[in-house]
Amino acid sequence: FNTERFGQHILKNPQTAQSIVDLAGLRPTDRVLEVGPGTGNLTVRILEQAKHVTAVEMDPRMRAELQKRVLGKPEQRKLDVLSGDAVKMTYPYFDVCISNTPYQISSPLVFRLLSHRPLFRVAILMFQREFAARLVAQPGSAFWSRLSANVQLYAKVDLVMNVNKNNFRPPPKVESSVVRIVPRDPPPPVEFGEFDGLGRVVFSRPNKTVHANFMASGVMKMLEENWRAWASTNNLIVEDSVDIKKKVEDVLEESGFSQSRAAKMDINDLLSLLLAFHTAGIHFA
Ligand code: SAM
Repeated sequence: FNTERFGQHILKNPQTAQSIVDLAGLRPTDRVLEVGPGTGNLTVRILEQAKHVTAVEMDPRMRAELQKRVLGKPEQRKLDVLSGDAVKMTYPYFDVCISNTPYQISSPLVFRLLSHRPLFRVAILMFQREFAARLVAQPGSAFWSRLSANVQLYAKVDLVMNVNKNNFRPPPKVESSVVRIVPRDPPPPVEFGEFDGLGRVVFSRPNKTVHANFMASGVMKMLEENWRAWASTNNLIVEDSVDIKKKVEDVLEESGFSQSRAAKMDINDLLSLLLAFHTAGIHFA
């Protein structure tokens, strides 16, 4: 085990730890999921406010320290410490997630949380500052990206606090920020793979036109394969020589997004474009 591999930067500033927990607005009935509790600096504060905490920690030495910290105290009954990788395991029911996240699992963790059902109420997560900036970015800004669109499709995301690296021991190389994630409930009726698949095409070069990105090599081949698969599952006759390029260009023209650029398209634009493709039988996943 080593500090860098597990992202073990322990939050040493008690005020910062308390602020992060307070941002969750915990209720005495809440069941909390904590990812990467480390030695438990957030955990003990969460235990003061919540009904129950499930803490998922990969490092056995950290698990031992955390267990020791609550040993024989009333809080012990409220805490389950699970061993395992937070990206791979199935979570129990939780109302709120709080994490000083190991930065190497930032992206998979966010999508893992957003696909968990039933939906949680709120997540308070600390990330590397650039990653947080991408999560909250708006169209037209430098950090607007496929990640921003994918996450904001399913959740409202706000930057709630910046945390200087000197709050940690050892201090990481990067600055950190805390974000609040509130899932949209009900979630939009869009298949993630389809939205993400369109995003892969249009955000491959976000400042180029949508049309130019669709003309990039490999895109037509992928769409034609998807088109054939979709046609056959829907019992449509597939011509041998289908002009997929023409179909795509027709959709781009009719939808009005041909000359748009992903850098400036918002989630509603992306959803309209996706719907136009689906109406024409063209799929991305
Ligand atoms: N929460 C503590 C704090 O704020 O002081 C420690 C945070 S530290 C940045 C991240 C913690 O996550 C470490 O204890 C590390 O062992 C643990 N960890 C790293 N990868 C993990 C994973 N995939 N699943 C669960 N825990 C992980």
